[in-house]
Amino acid sequence: MPVDPNTLMLVYYPDPILKKIAKEIDPKDKNVQAVAKKMIEIMIEENGLGLAAPQVGLSWRLFVTRVPEDEEVGIAWLNPKLEVISDESEIDEEGCLSMPEIRGGVRRPIGIKISGHDFDGKKMSAQSDDFIARIWQHENDHLDGVLITEKMSAMDRLVNRRRIRDLERAR
Ligand SMILES: [Zn+2]
Repeated sequence: MPVDPNTLMLVYYPDPILKKIAKEIDPKDKNVQAVAKKMIEIMIEENGLGLAAPQVGLSWRLFVTRVPEDEEVGIAWLNPKLEVISDESEIDEEGCLSMPEIRGGVRRPIGIKISGHDFDGKKMSAQSDDFIARIWQHENDHLDGVLITEKMSAMDRLVNRRRIRDLERAR
């Protein structure tokens, strides 16, 4: 059944959809393309740098990103595949639109190659060792049901403990 893009809303931890492994989608499907465009609008409204389909309640392998220098333009990745291309990793602070007010350091590989499809179902690929590579990994984690609280240090989890509990109670 087609999804009406105008009904999409952010979902928050601990919504169970955030823990599911998302399914591949048909990159030529016009409904998927309409959803991706709407997700870019939501990402910009919410001031995010990335947004994955499970965060709007859809268990689809799709995420959108934007780079800070290019704020009003978003890119969609349909059925993305990531490949680590560097041995180095680093810790940087991350937040998540589905976990408001929670921030913590997450260690990730620096260099990433991404391939997938764009809005129009065209194949595309890119690689980066910049901040966008971190965003790709954060969003791709959402497609595998993984959240930043599972990747941050025990110390950072402790710092965010009360906030995590408040989110769990809010449901
Ligand atoms: Zn997130």
